[in-house]
Amino acid sequence: MIEVLSIASEVYPLVKTGGLADVAGALPKALAPLGVAMRTLLPGYPVVMSKLSDRTAVASFADLFGGAARLLAARVEGLDLLVIDAPHLYDRPGGPYAGPDGADWPDNWQRFAALSFVAYEIGRGLLPDYRPQILHAHDWQAGLVPAYVAFNAPTRVKTIQTVHNLAFQGRFGWEVFPELRLDYRAADEGAIEFYGGISFLKAGLQCADALTTVSPTYAQEIRTEAYGMGLQGLLQSRADVLHGITNGIDVHEWNPGDDAALPDHYSATTTMLRAGNKQAVAHEFGLDGTDGPLFAVVSRLTWQKGMDMLAHCIDDLVSRGGRLAVLGSGEIALENGFKAAAIRHPGKVGIVTKYDERLSHLVQGGADVMVIPSRFEPCGLTQLYGLRYGCVPLVSRVGGLADTVIDANEAAVEAGVATGIVFAPATQEALGEAIRRTFALYGREKVWRKMQRRGMKSDVSWEASAEKYADLYSNLIGQKRDDDQDD
Ligand code: ADP
Repeated sequence: MIEVLSIASEVYPLVKTGGLADVAGALPKALAPLGVAMRTLLPGYPVVMSKLSDRTAVASFADLFGGAARLLAARVEGLDLLVIDAPHLYDRPGGPYAGPDGADWPDNWQRFAALSFVAYEIGRGLLPDYRPQILHAHDWQAGLVPAYVAFNAPTRVKTIQTVHNLAFQGRFGWEVFPELRLDYRAADEGAIEFYGGISFLKAGLQCADALTTVSPTYAQEIRTEAYGMGLQGLLQSRADVLHGITNGIDVHEWNPGDDAALPDHYSATTTMLRAGNKQAVAHEFGLDGTDGPLFAVVSRLTWQKGMDMLAHCIDDLVSRGGRLAVLGSGEIALENGFKAAAIRHPGKVGIVTKYDERLSHLVQGGADVMVIPSRFEPCGLTQLYGLRYGCVPLVSRVGGLADTVIDANEAAVEAGVATGIVFAPATQEALGEAIRRTFALYGREKVWRKMQRRGMKSDVSWEASAEKYADLYSNLIGQKRDDDQDD
């Protein structure tokens, strides 16, 4: 067995704000059959603590960044968890990163330095009966893990830093450095300094033994000025250890054949049964019918996701006989833009601004088109759910979207390999054109059904990707995987 500790600030089904949680929750299960035992370390936010029915304290800290703390071991829904119970850091209302008012907690640097520090301590033998061989750090919240390993007391544990989104870098003022419990050599050697301040993500990218990101195209893009967000130079210099591994999805959690959120279940050969689900979506979003294509969004409403471009295309979309259901929240100006469109086009445009896991499944199971016009997209999960549910993805050709959707150009339609509509560049004009193309394809019923079927048959499971992670782990520690040993 290869022992890996995954360190993540959110893990589905305990706490989720985005794709990171889905990945952190799915990976351990996908890796188990491949000879990898993965435990997951996460902060004990109130929502997490409330789900730990059977827990054991396995370590304690007299002073973990300003207060006493305990490390709890628990199993929840098949996940083997280590949870940091540190009330002074995590016991508060709001989300994982921000208070109820939406503002980031001012002590986030401490909250996530603590997460990373505990991981480091586990990596160097804090627990008598558990010593991981690899610490796998996710995003900036765990970015200090590789730095503690590289600069504090030496330990033989290996580290991997995964980037789920380079836009979130964990940047703080230089004045917090002395409080991080990180050896001063990290400062001397420029491992954590970024434009005069500190970046947790940069520290991870600089110090980890291996780097991964969540699609091959994004792994290329982030080495360029256009997508590198200031870190392209560092990423170029580490290109030999940077791997792009496309995310999968949990195909049991997301299965149109038995999804409890859907009134009607269906398969690739019975997509006509989606009609009842479409009606249910129309009902939930206050739409007045189900004729014509139903476009949908399940997303954070942000500039990254290209939602401003979509808002500008709504009038045209409605004038052509389409409807739009938006499930998402985010930037107030964008929320207001969609709300205004719903008022302008009653019965044709609906928006629900809450976070609702059930509704997100229903939308995938009933809408015709999942619109994802991102300006950049590390991997994206909603197009994968769309493929699995026959909700045809309409995506910009960036990052993981480019890697997972095959455009319905005439050649691809002819060859029967198309799975969606892909456009470039990520501009409003190109999106408008792609929407018009979607109407034309939707009008060709046979072509449309074939595209749905093809999408539903694409492999979006974790299997292939989990193999790649397992190979990376085994190469890193020079140990064969158990399941390889008979080869
Ligand atoms: P990101 O992580 O950048 O937000 P992803 O596409 O990788 O984007 O993952 C987004 C995840 O969050 C998906 O699982 C999607 O279904 C979910 N999601 C986004 N907004 C909502 C919402 N309002 N309600 C329910 N689920 C949502």
